[in-house]
Amino acid sequence: MVLETGSLDLLKPALAKLEESYNDLPEFSQSIDEKKLKEVLIEVAERMKDNYPYPHPLYAGQMLKPPHPVARLAYMLSLFVNPNNHALDGGRASSAMEKEAVAAIAQMLGFKTHLGHLCGGGTMANLEALWVAGRLAPGKLVVASNQAHYTHSRITEVLGIPFKAVAVDERGRMDIEDLDRILEEEEVGSVVVTTGTTALGSVDPLPAILDLREKYGFRIHVDAAYGGYFKLAENLDTEARAAFDRIGEADSAVIDPHKHGLQPYGCGCVLFKDPAVGALYKHDSPYTYFSSSELHLGEISLECSRPGSAAVALWATQRLLPMTAKGEFADDLAKSRKAALELYERLKQDSRFLTPLVPELDIVIFAANAESAEESSRMARTIFEDTAKKGLHLALANLPVKLFPESMLKDRTQEYVTCLRSCLMKPEHLDWLDEIWQKLDLAMVDVGQKVLS
Ligand SMILES: *Cc1c(COP(=O)(O)O)cnc(C)c1O
Repeated sequence: MVLETGSLDLLKPALAKLEESYNDLPEFSQSIDEKKLKEVLIEVAERMKDNYPYPHPLYAGQMLKPPHPVARLAYMLSLFVNPNNHALDGGRASSAMEKEAVAAIAQMLGFKTHLGHLCGGGTMANLEALWVAGRLAPGKLVVASNQAHYTHSRITEVLGIPFKAVAVDERGRMDIEDLDRILEEEEVGSVVVTTGTTALGSVDPLPAILDLREKYGFRIHVDAAYGGYFKLAENLDTEARAAFDRIGEADSAVIDPHKHGLQPYGCGCVLFKDPAVGALYKHDSPYTYFSSSELHLGEISLECSRPGSAAVALWATQRLLPMTAKGEFADDLAKSRKAALELYERLKQDSRFLTPLVPELDIVIFAANAESAEESSRMARTIFEDTAKKGLHLALANLPVKLFPESMLKDRTQEYVTCLRSCLMKPEHLDWLDEIWQKLDLAMVDVGQKVLS
């Protein structure tokens, strides 16, 4: 494969445009030793070879998606300014772009009012949401399903908030009966609803949880770090669609533009429905905000210095690929989900595999059909290594045996089964399914021989 480098030529005219803003200043230029610089860069390229081939469609393992060229270029362009979106003093233009980009995300998710900002990623974004949740309901429990991202139990530990895990149903979604029981028995301040779990892509039943909020009264925080953009995909099943359509009724939500939003890492986003929570962030730094009485993003975020470039890249991406239903961006998400469904169908028809879950988004989970959970786990690890040698990169996930119906996996002697997991996050995955299948098929032949010998 070749790297897309043609678009680098577009950077120079854009930089010349940016340079106009310095026309009034006295002559000044930075000098560099190009020879030495080149040497170091070549050394860097050599070092960077030691990675899985993330940009290629045959990388179909972990939750990794290449940034769009426009995001890369806008990020690079803005690095010539290197704005800091903590304060308007550090980045006026990029702060304005951040406010616009965040407002577009809030609208896409269905928030009628919002206060929000970008941050380092889903972990920081969730930390802020749960920090606010804890401030508003001190001492009360935060609950999330046992398939929620592990960050929630860790974050609540950092914040000193009590945490409890809710059971999941056979599709890996928060179990409403178990949630109801906990709500009945304990003082719950917040329920974390995951619309797209990281391991399985399961979507918690937000409508039922909103009903329980009527009865018990608690905050709802939606963790849509991975799944959020699927709001735009037109091919979700009815239950997932119903959940995504009501995110705007939550008290807060998190989405990661660096997962499905085509951004380089370092781009998460937290949103609150009630802008008044901004008051909780109040601090009185004596030297920070002088240049303007407008909102400095640092006044409503826990992180201080932050890359304005992340906001510029996101803004540019939204400009090129607006987040509208039926637009190119939405179509690409629908393609990822279609690829997941097609791969699932092929696996399901093939007796060599076990398919415990219909994909709700674009993650496919499958296991090797074997006599025991132990044997199946061993085979999954062999398949993982063997496909990698053939150029197909999958991922592994340890899943509770409980997610498998007994008719599918009779042996229940161990608690977990190692499964194969494939995140089909690139729209191109759809066109590469035959290739992916061929390599998987060849690996299965090898694995069969290894098992026999
Ligand atoms: C990825 C993810 C997180 C953590 O986000 P980072 O950007 O990796 O810090 C939290 N929750 C969910 C559901 C995720 O998929």
